[in-house]
This record gives sequence, structure tokens and C-alpha cells, in this order.
Amino acid sequence: MSGLTEPLPGTSDLWEPEVAEWRDLEGIARNVFNRYGYTELRTPIMERTEVFVRNLGNETDVVQKEMYTFQDRGGRSLSLRPEGTAGVMRAIANHGLNTGEECRVFYMGPMFRGERPAAGRRRQFHQVGCEAVGCNSPWMDAETIAMLVHFLAELGITGAKVMVNSRGLPEDRPPIAAALKEYFRPHLAEMCPDCQRRFEGNVWRMLDCKVPACHEIALGAPHIADLLGEASKDFFAKVCDGLKSLGVDFEVAPRLVRGLDYYVHTVFEITHTALGAQDALAGGGRYQITLPGTNTAIEGVGFAAGIERLLMARNALGIKAEEQPAADTYIIGPSAPAIPVALQLAGELRSKSLGGRVHADFTGRSMKGQFRSANKSGAKRVLVIGDDELANGTVTCKNMADGSQTSVPRAEVAAWLEKISN
Ligand code: AMP
Repeated sequence: MSGLTEPLPGTSDLWEPEVAEWRDLEGIARNVFNRYGYTELRTPIMERTEVFVRNLGNETDVVQKEMYTFQDRGGRSLSLRPEGTAGVMRAIANHGLNTGEECRVFYMGPMFRGERPAAGRRRQFHQVGCEAVGCNSPWMDAETIAMLVHFLAELGITGAKVMVNSRGLPEDRPPIAAALKEYFRPHLAEMCPDCQRRFEGNVWRMLDCKVPACHEIALGAPHIADLLGEASKDFFAKVCDGLKSLGVDFEVAPRLVRGLDYYVHTVFEITHTALGAQDALAGGGRYQITLPGTNTAIEGVGFAAGIERLLMARNALGIKAEEQPAADTYIIGPSAPAIPVALQLAGELRSKSLGGRVHADFTGRSMKGQFRSANKSGAKRVLVIGDDELANGTVTCKNMADGSQTSVPRAEVAAWLEKISN
């Protein structure tokens, strides 16, 4: 049976106290992004496959190899979202965005890619991301990267490396692609099958192949930024100026292209050495997308950061969220007549929001056994309803930190708790 109780490879169950780390990170994300005027958007986990194919590009690894695609009963092709941007764009198209209007949103949630699971590479992983749509200014790109760096700083993640590059505009691409092909053609036979396929379909991706032999060859390739048209060069220079004026420590990475076809101008990635082979914490860039079902092309800039990887980095740096005990107040009632009293008392405390997390023990185990569980729960306070307490209508309140005990009339426990917590 064990196989059936395990989560699928590349997916996991999350329990406390790990969930506390997630909540902490999510809270920091909301807080930071709100400060930049971004609001939260939640889109569905599945979409029509078309939403991803059109936006991400048919030649990308994500669309070619990694999407979980299936047919629904009506024969429609659906996919689990492999990333967040395409769904956000569909939602914005559906919501309506007037010309000249801006929209700044953030999202967080699960993404799905059928990759080979490895450390830091999962089939269900989670991203927190931002999109700023409708603003074509290079200063927006600088602010977006600075916001991501700010987010990492608030998470306490130090030592991350920020890399920036430009892919230019679509009209810059044919001569750049030609130059790249000219460079790679004599090396093709020594390169991996993926690169051989990319040579025709997406020669840009040959620049960032992780296969060592391909990487060696790519090191000698012409730099995209040198081959850009004047407008693109100017745009990129402004992004870099903006980053400098915001005090962001970054480097220009000539072979950074990012996987997806929709990028124009700025692309960026943040890596961290604490992550091992899968060292990307976050990535993003400026994109041009035709809103689904419309002929409206909109531009935006955004990024996605992997939550699991952010947590790995925090963990490696020894940053821990505050742990939450399973209970703050533990009610013990070992005898059968004590159980309904415990039930009622727990209900009263919860409805009055007193005593924090209230756990009533209905197991009917011995006093000793219940105290053991109370200790394990981390509760600060134990309310005991033993035989004596039942007989005289009281509850013994034990402070677990110092062992002190107070006898309180049953009807006054709530008021007493209120008094001591003030
Ligand atoms: P991408 O859309 O591939 O640039 O991904 C953005 C971020 O999501 C990466 O920088 C990683 O932090 C994270 N990420 C991407 N794919 C995975 C995966 N399979 N497992 C865990 N995290 C991932």
C-alpha cells in the first residue's frame, strides 16, 4: 500500500511547521508587493491549452515537453498551468484593459511541469510572481527588478546574483539569429540533440544550454546586446541606469535569453549558490503578448520566483519563521462526564476568541496520557477538569511555563483568561 499513500514523484504534502515557512513567505510577498501598488490576482489552475501555446511559443521546452495536457469530456484540450503569465494575460483580456490603462498584479500558487524530478526541480511547484501590464517604459523594468530584489531582502535572502540582458525588439531578431546561426553552424555536430533542434526553431536557446559541451561553445557566441538596433540599445541602457540609480547590484549576462518566446527587451534572472544545480531563484522580463481572443498587443514586465527555492535559500541561510504550537490552551477531561464539559468550555473560549488555539482532549485517556499530549502540543496553558473539579464546578488552570496552578470557577474561566491575557 505504501506506493498509494505517497504523493506523486515531484509533488509533496506540506505539514506544519513547514507550512509556517510558506505562510511567512506569502505574507512578506503580499506586504512588499502591496507597497508597490500591486494587487493580488488568482487565476484557475487549468486553462485551454491554446492560452499557453499562443503565449509561450510552440518551440519552447515548456510547451514541447513539459505541459500536463489532457482532453476534457467535450474533447477540448486543457492544460495545467506551467507558469503564471499566460493565465494572467487571459484574465486581463477578459476583464478588459483600455488603451493607455495600466494593471499591476501579483499572484502565487501551484504550477505544473512534467520535468524529471530532482533537487529543486519539481512537477508541482509554486511560484509567486508579478506582472505590470500597459507600461512600456524602461524605468518600469528597473523598478520591477528592484522590487524583486527588495522582496528577497525582506525574506532575508542575501548573496543572490542579479543578471540582466536584452533580447531587443522583434525587428532586431532576424540579423541576430543569422549571426548566431553563422557562429553555431560549424559546431552543430558536437552539440546536444536539443541544441540541434533549437538551431532551426529557436537558435537563441542555444546560448543558455546547460550541457557542458554546448555551454563551452556558447561562451564564444556573439553578444546579443552588441547586435541590437539603436532603439533597443537605448532602452537597455535606461534599464541599467535605472537599476544603478536604485542601488541594485547587477551584472549584464550576455548569454541570458530565458526560455519563452514572448520576451522583448529586458530579461533577467536571479540565482543563488545555496541552491546547487538548479540555482535559479527567479526570472522574468518584458514581454509582448497579443491578448487572447483579441488583436490587442500589450506589453508588460514581470517575473516569477519559485517558492520552494526561496524557502531552500532561506533555510540554507538559517532563517526560520516563528513556529506555531499546535495548541495554546489544552483542555484535559479524562472521565466520561468531563468530556461534554470540556467540549462546552472549548466552544465558549473559541467563540469569545480567548485562549488562542484551543484543543479539547476527547480521548478519555488517563490524566497522565492527556498531560503528555498537552506537553507535546506546545500549549502554554492546560485547563484540567478532573473528578474534584467536576464535583465542585471548577477548572484547574495550569501554567505550563512555571507550573503554577489556579482554581477558577467553571463559569468564570473565560473572564479569567481575558483578564490574564490583558
Ligand atoms: P521559469 O518560469 O522557468 O523561469 O521559472 C521561474 C522560477 O520558478 C525559477 O527561477 C525557479 O525558481 C522556479 N521553478 C521553475 N521550474 C521549477 C521546477 N520544476 N521546480 C521548482 N521550481 C521551479
